Amino acid sequence: MAASARPEPGVTAETAPFWDGTARGVLCLPHCGLCGTTFFPPAARCPHCLSSRVAWKDCSGRGYLRSWTELHVAPYSGSPSPSWSPRSNPAKADRWRWQC
Ligand SMILES: [Zn+2]
Repeated sequence: MAASARPEPGVTAETAPFWDGTARGVLCLPHCGLCGTTFFPPAARCPHCLSSRVAWKDCSGRGYLRSWTELHVAPYSGSPSPSWSPRSNPAKADRWRWQC
């Protein structure tokens, strides 16, 4: 079988906890121990209060979809055409809810 043309994500020391979480089926995000802000992308300091008391936290799996991006063209060569968005199938969008 030919190798996929799908680009692989770049796992770095900074993003490894996120990818480790996906392997466990958990959304894991950086969380500020000082102000309680959960944020993404990962950073050494909280983007809200600039505290360095940042640790990774497993999300509960509950939440709501605040925003999304709709693709109208294939994202990379050889990929299937986009056929779904939360707007076209709100029931399926329930699978994308999360909360920390
Ligand atoms: Zn903070």
